[in-house]
Amino acid sequence: MEDDPRLPEGQAWEKHSFPRSLPAFQRMFPDEAACAAYLERAIWPDGFSCPFCKWIGEPYRFTNRVGILRCRHCRGDTRLTARTVMKDSHTPLSVWFWGAYLVSSQTPGISAVQFQRQLGLKRYETAFQILHKLRAGMVRPGRDQLGGPPPVDHIEADDTWVGGRSQGKGRGNHNLTLVSGAVEVCWRKRKSSLNQRRLGRYAGRVRLAVVGENGSLGKFIKTVVKPGTIVVTDGWNSGDTLRTAGYQHVSVPIRGRREEVEKYLPMIHLVFSNLKTWIRGIHHGVSPQHLQTYLDEYAFRFNRRFYPFSAFRSLLGIASSVNAPTYAELYSGDWEPYKVDAPF
Ligand SMILES: [Zn+2]
Repeated sequence: MEDDPRLPEGQAWEKHSFPRSLPAFQRMFPDEAACAAYLERAIWPDGFSCPFCKWIGEPYRFTNRVGILRCRHCRGDTRLTARTVMKDSHTPLSVWFWGAYLVSSQTPGISAVQFQRQLGLKRYETAFQILHKLRAGMVRPGRDQLGGPPPVDHIEADDTWVGGRSQGKGRGNHNLTLVSGAVEVCWRKRKSSLNQRRLGRYAGRVRLAVVGENGSLGKFIKTVVKPGTIVVTDGWNSGDTLRTAGYQHVSVPIRGRREEVEKYLPMIHLVFSNLKTWIRGIHHGVSPQHLQTYLDEYAFRFNRRFYPFSAFRSLLGIASSVNAPTYAELYSGDWEPYKVDAPF
């Protein structure tokens, strides 16, 4: 469930209050105490309860050690960072929070040098370590399959070639890698349904995978899409086994014709096109052996684009301590899309 664009239960307020600018972030998390208070609320939404003796109540607090709460009953100390990516780190919470904010909100990502400079960190290694740990939270692939009941209408799936540096090898692209992708096409609920279904269409979650030259789109779909789902593919590359595997397969002979693509596979091609722009723009091409990592990072941001606080918390490792969100929360249909400066 880790890369679901869903909000943990009871924290829906956050989707409206994620800081949209650096000054707003600074106001929200001005110091260590503010970061600690946020962590505490994320771990115990209903108030502190001691992990040692289960005592419930107001713990002892220390003004010079804001990351520690002491139980008034058993005197046990609890570290707020214990189950997060920040555990065992001597770096201030505020630096971690800034890192997670920058990584989750900046489309091109951020280099360790930029990060070190912007936060005034003395050591490059500290900046590198923090970014490395935060980014590790983006490359955990999602385990749950795409598809399901409304508003997911169907899945679009297709292959594309992603490449590659072409220096010194003459014209054209080299080192191209075949990538399979699948995206949920959803309908937003409308009060007046007359002729508005198209207007209410939006992309749900995405999955992307390097499949190699002998990869099969059919095999990819069986891995990432729930059986029973309607799957639309280009009839030239999808194989015939999807129906026997329980999918409602719509196979359209598109063969790269633009108008057919726009009619039947518009979402996945938008995903592919934005993915290629992103990879070209920041990395000037990615070598094939690192491509999957970037696909995971892209999917992480894409799947959380309406829920920046969910991305922020996932990177810090806070999300693991709260309840899994419900399907209804994601697909309630009444959220306001959050505008991110992303190419999606
Ligand atoms: Zn206790």
